[in-house]
Amino acid sequence: MSVDLRIAGGRVATPAGTVDADVLVHDGLIVGLVGRDVALDAVRTIDASGKLVLPGMVDVHVHTREPGYEHKDDILTTTRQAAAGGVTTIFGMPNLAPPTIDVETLRDVFERYESSSIVDWNHNPAPTKFDDIVPMGEMGIRAYKIYMVVDTGRTYPHPAGTGIHDHGHLLQIMDRIATTGLRFIVHPHDQSLMDYIEGEILARGENTPQGYATAYAAREGVIWDTAVDVVLRLAEAAGCPVHIAHIQTRRSIEAVRRAKERGVDVTCEVNHWAPFLSTWNDVETLGPYALSYWVPDDNRAAVWEGMRDGTIDIASSDHAPHTREEKEIGWTEMWSAHTGTPGIQYYYELMLDAVNKGQLSLDRVVEMVAEVPAAKFGLAGVKGTLTVGADADIVIADMAEEWTITDDDVLSKIGWTPYNGRTISARIERTIVRGTEVYADGTVIGLPGTGKIAAARPQS
Ligand SMILES: [Zn+2]
Repeated sequence: MSVDLRIAGGRVATPAGTVDADVLVHDGLIVGLVGRDVALDAVRTIDASGKLVLPGMVDVHVHTREPGYEHKDDILTTTRQAAAGGVTTIFGMPNLAPPTIDVETLRDVFERYESSSIVDWNHNPAPTKFDDIVPMGEMGIRAYKIYMVVDTGRTYPHPAGTGIHDHGHLLQIMDRIATTGLRFIVHPHDQSLMDYIEGEILARGENTPQGYATAYAAREGVIWDTAVDVVLRLAEAAGCPVHIAHIQTRRSIEAVRRAKERGVDVTCEVNHWAPFLSTWNDVETLGPYALSYWVPDDNRAAVWEGMRDGTIDIASSDHAPHTREEKEIGWTEMWSAHTGTPGIQYYYELMLDAVNKGQLSLDRVVEMVAEVPAAKFGLAGVKGTLTVGADADIVIADMAEEWTITDDDVLSKIGWTPYNGRTISARIERTIVRGTEVYADGTVIGLPGTGKIAAARPQS
């Protein structure tokens, strides 16, 4: 037997736990996990001695900014960051210009990934054109995405066509999505509560990062919790699989836990900033660069607990880059700043660092970044797991390398990260997509167009 690639000498994270094995790759697939002593010909051997061999991250929440906002990032620069960060599959988001809301705009964005993406990809369109919901599903998407948001005094980052907050309309859409079997990603938000809460804060003249952070976290996160309750109840009523974006409050996590117990098909995600950023100190020192949101300490504790016990089943970045100019205005006019923060390049490493710190088990990290997003978004057996027959999407990490994240290393066009200056103890050394190395030892080597659509394997 001869194979294309043997990854030798590493500790391999499999669904059955971490084992000492060599990983065999041929024609882009994992074809074996074998003992060190098994002799066979390999065109290439990578020495992973002393390293962890992990599945690539499947990041279902990524803002590539293409088309429409390429001054922030584009598909090529986003997937360069993905490759460096161990992310082998991304799902893009619909808040683009034009927004991805129908067959035509979805086809356009697919063509852009095909020519530019270094890693595998899919895209989550907004299901706001009713007659396009099923046809878009038939094009190979894995999910839809909606914002329960109407932004105050700005059209970005949630442009027209990507938001619905009327409950009847949401139920109607869930009924239709339920016929596709695909998952519905919802950004939970109660707009009428937000209008009242932020109105009071703005009336006090607190158009600041602190005021903004206070608004979103007000009354222990009531604008999130009421929306999550509505989404869960409607999903249950429609039989529609849902995914709650950026969970961050104690009561939201409790609500998801209860919904799972009564059989609702719900997943939820934690973005990098909830466990690793967004303290009050970050709000004060990083201001508009830290936000999205403030996660008060008791909610942060609930987030960690939810990550450990599996209530929070998916880690996805919500990578949301904005330029310094778009952020700077926020020091004095926070409601005019673009919110969201970049994260795809460092999230996996921050999670592995959390393993070293004893905050999470390695098994939980692998489940959250790879196994569960793949399984819950229709890619079971294809992505997210180092098992025979799966795509050879593989990350090699050194769990004993201390290094410091700096703005200089950022591969995004924006040239900054909220983690500038942070020292962590785990580092991704290589990233492999379907057997092709796209990142090695600090250099992105993957070519535009290497990525293919992440799709369920046709039954043969
Ligand atoms: Zn987002």
